[in-house]
Amino acid sequence: MNHLSSLDVKFIKGIGPKKAELLTAELGISSAADLLRNYPNHYIDRSKCYTVSDLVGEMPYAQIRGRFVTMNVVGEGAKTRLTALFSDGKRSMEVVWFRKIKNIRESIRLGQEYILFGKPTRYGPIWQMAHPEIDVPNTAGAREGFRGIYPLTERLRSRGFTSRNFYVWVQNALEGRSITDPMPASVVMSRSLMPLDKAIRQIHMPESPELLEKAKYRLKFDELFYIQLDIVKNSRVRHQSTQGFRFRRIAEWFNNFYNQCLPFPLTDAQKRVVKEIRADVNTGRQMNRLVQGDVGSGKTIVALMAMLMAIDNGYQACLMAPTEILATQHFETLNAMTAKIGLNIELLTGSTKAARRRAIHESLRDGSLHILVGTHALIEDNVTFANLGLAVIDEQHRFGVAQRAKLWRKNICPPHILVMTATPIPRTLAMTVYGDLDVSVIDELPPGRKPVTTLLRYDNQRNGTYKAVYNQLRQGRQAYIVYPLIDENEKLDLRSLQEGYEIIRQTFPDYNVAMVHGRMKPDEKDHQMQLFISGQARILVATTVIEVGVNVPNASVMIIENAERFGLSQLHQLRGRVGRGADQSYCVLMTKYQIAAETRKRLEVMTSTTDGFVIAEADMKFRGPGDIEGTMQSGMPFDLHIASLATDGAIMQQARQAAESVLDSDPELTSPAHRDMKRYMQSLTRRTADWSNIS
Ligand code: ADP
Ligand code: MG
Repeated sequence: MNHLSSLDVKFIKGIGPKKAELLTAELGISSAADLLRNYPNHYIDRSKCYTVSDLVGEMPYAQIRGRFVTMNVVGEGAKTRLTALFSDGKRSMEVVWFRKIKNIRESIRLGQEYILFGKPTRYGPIWQMAHPEIDVPNTAGAREGFRGIYPLTERLRSRGFTSRNFYVWVQNALEGRSITDPMPASVVMSRSLMPLDKAIRQIHMPESPELLEKAKYRLKFDELFYIQLDIVKNSRVRHQSTQGFRFRRIAEWFNNFYNQCLPFPLTDAQKRVVKEIRADVNTGRQMNRLVQGDVGSGKTIVALMAMLMAIDNGYQACLMAPTEILATQHFETLNAMTAKIGLNIELLTGSTKAARRRAIHESLRDGSLHILVGTHALIEDNVTFANLGLAVIDEQHRFGVAQRAKLWRKNICPPHILVMTATPIPRTLAMTVYGDLDVSVIDELPPGRKPVTTLLRYDNQRNGTYKAVYNQLRQGRQAYIVYPLIDENEKLDLRSLQEGYEIIRQTFPDYNVAMVHGRMKPDEKDHQMQLFISGQARILVATTVIEVGVNVPNASVMIIENAERFGLSQLHQLRGRVGRGADQSYCVLMTKYQIAAETRKRLEVMTSTTDGFVIAEADMKFRGPGDIEGTMQSGMPFDLHIASLATDGAIMQQARQAAESVLDSDPELTSPAHRDMKRYMQSLTRRTADWSNIS
């Protein structure tokens, strides 16, 4: 592949400098290798010919065999067009061209047999095809069998580029050339991969569906293999070289907490994760561990026990949360849980007063403060620890990579990092995005929890829904009503929230209603939250600010308005706010009456399962991994052209194993058998900064 990477695409027959420039600008294709890696995005079966009477509804493409009967130029100036009647022998359709009229008119002969290929559109009783591809049957250029359709941009299309052009250029690029394969022969053999040269030819010009599948597998495998090779190699280097604090002892703080303060027996999953952390921090290497645990699985206490390990060894710990509400709640929970052993814990957020802030800085520097809980305020530059040994980050996905890098620099030797996420990132994605993070999973909920009953309801069933809420309130319970924010800055959103608030107040006149949203002043927000947490307000009307972490076990029902606007993972997070007590809880997903079948299917995932992993996988399938990747994209060393993080998890595992065994046998990739592979991998790397050192 390397020699094709250095061959400028303009030298491919049929392209030339002008088209090459457009290809680079529009599709990033600048070398022959880029052209070959620009795969068709779908295929059509060109073995089948339709007749005009066969045409129905919304066919994306159809192929029709027949003859042109008439051909006329109509209109004037910019509106000039060429129209023709094309007959399949029984019925005719209209064919129309708006560009290249002269060329087409001269090249087509009436009465000769052609195969037209294009999108049929219906105008009343007449079918029409605009700018079809035209082949003469049984000639060299004519395509039968499977045919790839290449993605085009608007601009390329308006300049007259067609999918067929790509097909021809690819053929020209491949003609007389063979593609060398940088993949070690051992991998190709042991995984029974299709040879690269064949795979490239088959992906562009498949001879059969079976060969196409094998070609796709090979090319996906390649992309994922080089990613895994890069990740595994970096991670091995880091494991060997990054020194970390060694927490040798488990001593009084931990033991006293365990013996005197433990509020409930730990679940087996919690115990296992605590042990995994214990083993990590005792190796002398820096820990970089992700704890995945569904909402309510009890990550907080695990974090606390990890922090106690740090304190037992003379280090400080910090716990960082994404919102002030959540940081405050963590602070209160930790204080309550450790009341008997008297830890020194402080809270630092954006609204901490100056005097308090100074006192906190003081106790941080003199080492008397054990644990600092806070928002991102605690990674500000003027916050200095005497000896930070462990940083816990809750709800990882809200923090960017750069913020984590700041934490990393809070001590001479980087502190151990424990990242806790309630968004269960599917393993396939975790393996890639967090390739060098170790992953622990709390895959068990504390005993006695009843799964939340989830219902899908339409606007016209609103009264029944309110009745059910009323029943819960009468039994002393509390309710959440959640509105989506389309755009945090839009006045419109706020208005719909306020209207909702008024309706709820009128519908439930006997109960106090609190309201929180992102544009409130922190004081006011806290006040409203406090009303709900204390039970004075029985209903909370809110935007997604409540999504993360809020714990009100008495709340047993949640209505989510315009549920179709939320992603599944977000719905799951929201739903996690109810079902925290021992009683049966309910979550109602409200949508407008008419929703697309796809939307309904998506929402039915919520009504059919409460398993966060299943939901996260489904979310990836429906939306693609894009949203989840977000800022994590920087963790991906190369672009993917054909493999999908959402759906190719199994291939990824294979690729991972293959990469590991290559590195087992040749850690530095210095063997001659791996020379091409190494060079190819280096040519792919497009990193600007080395993020691999950061959690
Ligand atoms: P999350 O993983 O969502 O952060 P939390 O740590 O907030 O979960 O725990 C959710 C609730 O479950 C809290 O009220 C906590 O006290 C309780 N909890 C955690 N672990 C256990 C356990 N082993 N047994 C009973 N209750 C538990
Ligand atoms: Mg939590």
